[in-house]
Amino acid sequence: MARMTLFSRRAVLSSASVTLLGCTVKSAPTTGRDVSLVLPAQPTSDGAGVRLNRALGHRSLSTLDPFLLLDEFHTENPNDYLAGFPEHPHRGFETVTYMIHGAMEHRDVLGNQGRLGPGSAQWMTAGHGIIHSEMPKQERGLMWGFQLWVNLPKARKLIAPRYQDIAAARIPEVEVDGARVRIVAGSTFGAKGPVDGIDIEPVFLDVALKKGSRVVQPVPAGHTTFAFVTEGTARFGTSRREVSKGSLVILEKGTSVELTGEGEGGRVLFLAGRPFNEPIARAGPFVMNTEAELQQAFDDYRSGRLLL
Ligand code: MN
Repeated sequence: MARMTLFSRRAVLSSASVTLLGCTVKSAPTTGRDVSLVLPAQPTSDGAGVRLNRALGHRSLSTLDPFLLLDEFHTENPNDYLAGFPEHPHRGFETVTYMIHGAMEHRDVLGNQGRLGPGSAQWMTAGHGIIHSEMPKQERGLMWGFQLWVNLPKARKLIAPRYQDIAAARIPEVEVDGARVRIVAGSTFGAKGPVDGIDIEPVFLDVALKKGSRVVQPVPAGHTTFAFVTEGTARFGTSRREVSKGSLVILEKGTSVELTGEGEGGRVLFLAGRPFNEPIARAGPFVMNTEAELQQAFDDYRSGRLLL
């Protein structure tokens, strides 16, 4: 916890008023969010020995409701990734894979299969249960991507599994003040990301900022909002806090976040989602609400009932 830096700043409020038919109508105030916490990712390994940087889901920050985990894999050494993630189960939440460079293959035991190439995404709703493998489809060269875990609400943890496999070309890209914004999920700057029907009403953006480019990203007021700097340096929030590659940035409550490029520019994964405020019981590949449900998941997996 010693490496945590905690900031508490008052949000800056602004509001606009318009005159309509002689009445003055005050529009809803917009509130720019400031940074509440910056936390470096922690090196770890998972799967059959894949080297990762864990930005969320570690000892210092186990959960950021509704988000449960964020891993970055970024290495040119095949020994760091070749072992992959052989067959394993999931229940009670969603896994999101986003590739920047390299290729992964996904297969589940029911025969569903998909290939993730550069710039593609997969939003997998495990729901009641899936058993799958996620393996590299390359033997050399740079492998760079992310896996995000997203919770499901209590009432929908056991829904039927669903895959949204999204080719790179389906992800819209807009230019804002010299910045390039890829929209995986959510609607912003006149474009809509391809992911649909997700409980947390997600915003998932990949933002490449040039030096000086400024993006003011609207966010639903109640959403948990955070970012991870994937390249270079960027400034965040009303205080324009400078954050470099490899750190997670949590934003305070508010309706927008300002991102600015710094130095040689920066690249940022930007995420927002509706929190559930429900109890979480998690262990390994299962995320439920109670210890009994967790035990049930392990029992179901052992007895071959996870998929029923
Ligand atoms: Mn998995």
